[in-house]
Amino acid sequence: MVITFPNMGNVALAVRTLCQGLQIPYVMPEENNKLTLRIGAEHSPEEICLPFKFMLGNFIQSIEKGADTVLLTGSCGPCRFGEYCELAMKILRKLGYENIDFIIADLSSEVGVEEFKRRIGKISAASPLSKLEQLKALHAAYKVVELCDKIDASAYYLAGFELNRGECKRILHEYKKKAVQCESPSELIKLLNYYKDKIDSVKISKNKDPIKISIIGEIFTVIDPFSNLYIEEKLMDYGVSSKRTLTPSWWVKNLLMKPLRLNSPDIKKASKPYLPYSVGGHGKECIGEAVLAKAHGMDGAIQILPLGCMPEVVAKSVIPTIQAEKDFPIMTLIVDEITGEAGYITRTEAFIDMLKSRKSPSQSAFGKASGS
Ligand code: SF4
Repeated sequence: MVITFPNMGNVALAVRTLCQGLQIPYVMPEENNKLTLRIGAEHSPEEICLPFKFMLGNFIQSIEKGADTVLLTGSCGPCRFGEYCELAMKILRKLGYENIDFIIADLSSEVGVEEFKRRIGKISAASPLSKLEQLKALHAAYKVVELCDKIDASAYYLAGFELNRGECKRILHEYKKKAVQCESPSELIKLLNYYKDKIDSVKISKNKDPIKISIIGEIFTVIDPFSNLYIEEKLMDYGVSSKRTLTPSWWVKNLLMKPLRLNSPDIKKASKPYLPYSVGGHGKECIGEAVLAKAHGMDGAIQILPLGCMPEVVAKSVIPTIQAEKDFPIMTLIVDEITGEAGYITRTEAFIDMLKSRKSPSQSAFGKASGS
């Protein structure tokens, strides 16, 4: 068994750590790039959403490097994610990749706990380690994703307060570059702990009052920087602080608490008056996060979604009500394989300028030009 998996932000680093810890051969998927997307888009149905195209591109590239097993999370939910696995299998078979095994980690009630255990058991059986050692490997993988998410969150938020412009971004790039070079879980955890301390001791000015933006929307596109055109890093360049709730470690906690109905109670409560029903994906979370962003003192929110994403289109239709009732600006950015970066940047800059003018009219370009 040679495992591969999709590249989705910090998830790939965590799954690689798990494979290293379990001593199972793996192929690390390429960091998402133009070629990955071109390969995926070329073989995907035109109307399928962007995350599928990236994933298919990842799988083909990794299979070409020797992978024979794809590990993927699944869902029987109402959006296209429920079709991802079957569709990917069919396309790969059609392309001549006949003997590729898919392990779908899906804990939904339709699949059931026993079937879930059987599927995960395939990975466990491929490891030469004892059950206890395997549990330790799983814990290390979670630790990795949790540390990565914490470092990222600190970097994105502190960028608005940093005294030395660009320091948070430099630390962010430095740790990501070194993390992929680590050869063992313990080496990686040591490195991440070092960078966690480093980012938390960045010199900041508490007198600064930067623009603060929440990043909300479809989980793949908010987590994967290439597909959202590095929105969080662009905000860092503008001296804007940003926050994002949907992270891989949030996803794990949410999944584990779901059977007990204790997952994200604050988000569920905040979304209830606007979207009381699940619409698949993270549409409900998007609405809850928008409401909470205002309550937590953010100046605005940016919703990111892939073109044609069903749950986020529903969320998008609710957003104008939240904007009006809460007096809270929210901009929507839709991404697909032909998204033009220039228009995306112009809209982001205009949004930030509008937020500045609301916060302090004399600071904005419009405020200066109009003399107001
Ligand atoms: S949430 Fe949206 S982008 Fe993700 S699989 Fe569902 S429809 Fe596609």
